[in-house]
Amino acid sequence: MIPVTSLKDRSVALFGLGGSGLATARALMAGGAQVTAFDDAPASVARAAEEGIPTADLRGLDWSSLAALVLAPGVPLTHPEPHWSVRLAQAAGVEVIGDIELFCRERRLAPRRSPLAAITGTNGKSTTTALLAHLMRVGGRDVQIGGNFGPAILSLEPSRAGRVHVIECSSYQIDLAPSLDPSVGILLNLSPDHLDRHGSMAHYAEVKERLVAGIEAGGTAVVGVDDAWCAAIADRIEAAGTHVVRLSMRRPLEDGIFLEDGLLVVSERGIRVQTVSLAGINALRGTHNAQNAAAAFAAARALGLAPEVIIHALRSFPGLAHRMEEVRRIGEVIFVNDSKATNADAAERALSSFENIFWIAGGKPKAGGIAPLAPWFDRVRKAYLIGVAADDFAATLGEAVPHELSHTLEVAVAAAARDAAAVGGPAVVLLSPACASFDQFPNFEVRGDRFRALAQALG
Ligand code: ADP
Repeated sequence: MIPVTSLKDRSVALFGLGGSGLATARALMAGGAQVTAFDDAPASVARAAEEGIPTADLRGLDWSSLAALVLAPGVPLTHPEPHWSVRLAQAAGVEVIGDIELFCRERRLAPRRSPLAAITGTNGKSTTTALLAHLMRVGGRDVQIGGNFGPAILSLEPSRAGRVHVIECSSYQIDLAPSLDPSVGILLNLSPDHLDRHGSMAHYAEVKERLVAGIEAGGTAVVGVDDAWCAAIADRIEAAGTHVVRLSMRRPLEDGIFLEDGLLVVSERGIRVQTVSLAGINALRGTHNAQNAAAAFAAARALGLAPEVIIHALRSFPGLAHRMEEVRRIGEVIFVNDSKATNADAAERALSSFENIFWIAGGKPKAGGIAPLAPWFDRVRKAYLIGVAADDFAATLGEAVPHELSHTLEVAVAAAARDAAAVGGPAVVLLSPACASFDQFPNFEVRGDRFRALAQALG
């Protein structure tokens, strides 16, 4: 745990008692703050109270005596409208911050500051965070990984020599961290997401920009420049004096890392100084993962690892569960769990990464269904449709793709495995549902675990 000493002996209100809220309350108390914690869910308040965290309705506090409101990232700060606790803080002129802000303040107070690598973007955050942590670990560093992915940031170990903190940041967390100052910041990409919570794309992008705009002196920003939002951000922060490494998976760059004929090319002032092959690394299949690998490469370089060490370490990256995770191989047929693909956009990454696909899709549908995936339908040998979306997806596939209404994952896996084996050559049984899981499973993890178990149980 990282005791928060910056608010020692001060009165602090904390709202939001999920996992990260509880960890924050413990860290504040360990550092000597007077905490009053609350949540709109009585069960969460009761759980905190059982742990010895002081709880009370924040509406009853004397806000003029408070040093801060510490907010959990899931609680609305601005949109659709500020939470009532935020309004109380604003009316009293009390600052509203989150756990990442507290971490950054503590890091600045530490006698031996560990470098902080912070990762954000609309897609690929968790993969890049896990990959960078893996590279640094293989490179011999003591790695603490957490934030939006893994343990809450304040439950990690504090700064010390030889240690690096690798932290995934959501836009909500960045919004609550006004002095976020990573040593290395990664902004992967931006596309419309979470606009209910940010009001507009412009505001969402502005929040994400802060992670790379705040880089500490001597630090490095790594920015994917394949969308117009991020390209503009890279130019802006560079003009303001930040060292920027650009990434493109679409076009060559004078300076930066780009993808060419399946190889990552590192270019410095027009000179190709390194090429990195990702061929044969199962956990990094697809152009989207090439972007994640390029980002992790650039960040690991900035954190002091030698290129050869990184290139070697990339090969042993195990990947993350439920993201194009190879879970079984029978002869030339592989079984791939991409349960995290809960919309068409994510499923497109998988369909574009394989050929001879026996595709299991469906669940609780999202707007637009699978119509945007039509350009990839010729890679699908047959589709096995499950869940509420089955009939709609069948209508979209029409004559273009052979399909059957399997309805359940069990039926789908058995049928797809049988048909893929009959090919007598390379084939992929792919669960990439393009749907949420909630019609048949508690979440995408349970759906993916079920697929893995079914694949592994096949004879
Ligand atoms: P996040 O943590 O941002 O949700 P993940 O690493 O968990 O991202 O990946 C989730 C899904 O997003 C993947 O299954 C893949 O479909 C897609 N994805 C991953 N990396 C990228 C990327 N760099 N660009 C676009 N899409 C990506």
